[in-house]
Amino acid sequence: YPEVIPSSSHAMRCQDLSPNTLKVLKTLISHNYKAYAVGGCVRDKLMGQDPKDFDVVTNATPEQIKACFRNCRLIGRRFRLAHITFGREIIEVATFRGHHKEEEDQSETKPEITDDPIDSTRRKLSPREQKYSAKIKADKKSKTSQDGQLLRDNIFGSIEEDAARRDFTFNAMYFDVSDESILDFANGMTAIKERQIEMIGPSDIRFREDPVRMIRAIRFAAKLNMKLPDSLSKSIKENAHLLANIPAARLFEETNKLLLSGYGVVTFESLVKHKLLAQLFPLLADLLSDENSKEYQLVLRMLKNTDNRINNDQRITPAFLYATFLWYPMEEKTQALMFESSMPMHDALNLASADIMFRQSRRIMIPKRFSIPVREMWTLQLRLQKRQGKRCLQLITHPRFRAAYDFLLLRGQTEGGELLEIAQWWTDFQKIPDNEKQKWVAAL
Ligand code: ATP
Ligand code: MG
Repeated sequence: YPEVIPSSSHAMRCQDLSPNTLKVLKTLISHNYKAYAVGGCVRDKLMGQDPKDFDVVTNATPEQIKACFRNCRLIGRRFRLAHITFGREIIEVATFRGHHKEEEDQSETKPEITDDPIDSTRRKLSPREQKYSAKIKADKKSKTSQDGQLLRDNIFGSIEEDAARRDFTFNAMYFDVSDESILDFANGMTAIKERQIEMIGPSDIRFREDPVRMIRAIRFAAKLNMKLPDSLSKSIKENAHLLANIPAARLFEETNKLLLSGYGVVTFESLVKHKLLAQLFPLLADLLSDENSKEYQLVLRMLKNTDNRINNDQRITPAFLYATFLWYPMEEKTQALMFESSMPMHDALNLASADIMFRQSRRIMIPKRFSIPVREMWTLQLRLQKRQGKRCLQLITHPRFRAAYDFLLLRGQTEGGELLEIAQWWTDFQKIPDNEKQKWVAAL
């Protein structure tokens, strides 16, 4: 049974929800369904942060939800959800999810088989874990991979079951707009007060069911300034390799949320420590093992800048992140190509860029609208470094100049020496009046 926390004992109010979220909840309730705001919005509010996205759950089935609204579309085969649109805002409404039972579903993504041998570090299951595991296995209709990853999860259930399949205790709190109470199914309030990340159920099993939960644990610890208990930390290190089973398409958004949300430095350090960064960026696995290496420092500097920009409401793009992360592997590959086939640098760089982006995309699917700018930023590094006389004047009007210059400066600040001098030259060059610019390029 949940603990019911009355409105007098907590800080969340109806006004903390977006007006349209509130409208959706009230409409469902007026049709005699149960409906709650759940997950991140409740957690964030109780931790003193402003909730940004609102997850709504109900006991109404998708079809029943649709019947309550004119502006409703049902989406998704893997997870059937209702989308209710209000102009530009979309409220996503999910039906209580039950335990893993079979439901034929064509759209599910098959996990890639990895050649990872059975992890020798994996210890025996504790009695509690054995019980949990047996419960899932007894349910003949459940569908899990050999690793224990949940492949199908699309059956409706009770609110208790819905709470039990959530990841962390503070994510299983349901806000009721009719009396502003909170239903707390897993003692999430205590976790919040103690600022501890607590998993619902045995972590090894929950991470095996869905390895993305490991990334979420790291993200919430950083974002909410909470402690990861040692046992959870250990469990993440032991299961980190399972991230290889997650489809690359799913990891793009997850990685953005991790590193482009304003607490990238802390998150990055934690990812390295938990061996998850090497999973997300295999090409960097060796390079980032040394904190004093230029590779590590470049990434750290970029993340510091990015965190500052986000906290000052300045624009950021995933392209800059990937351009930085993959720069040294790309540079190394360029050198290798030039050496092996005495290719001109420009061609080698183009080939190396394509190769590195392709290899990274097998782990994190980077959409074209970001991977193309990454490659442009890289190509422009050569042109910026060469400073070919009059061409400098054209270069500053290039649509990607600003990003490429920012990146050159970042590299210069990390490596120092000539690179920093060139970056400095470009800094000054942009500031001087046009007639001065002519003189500068003539003097090159
Ligand atoms: P944020 O919105 O800040 O990313 P969130 O907790 O709301 O945080 P969502 O991805 O919006 O994250 O998910 C909403 C809720 O769904 C979570 O609070 C959690 O209860 C549940 N959930 C999400 N992902 C998982 C998962 N991989 N395993 C179990 N439960 C999950
Ligand atoms: Mg959310």
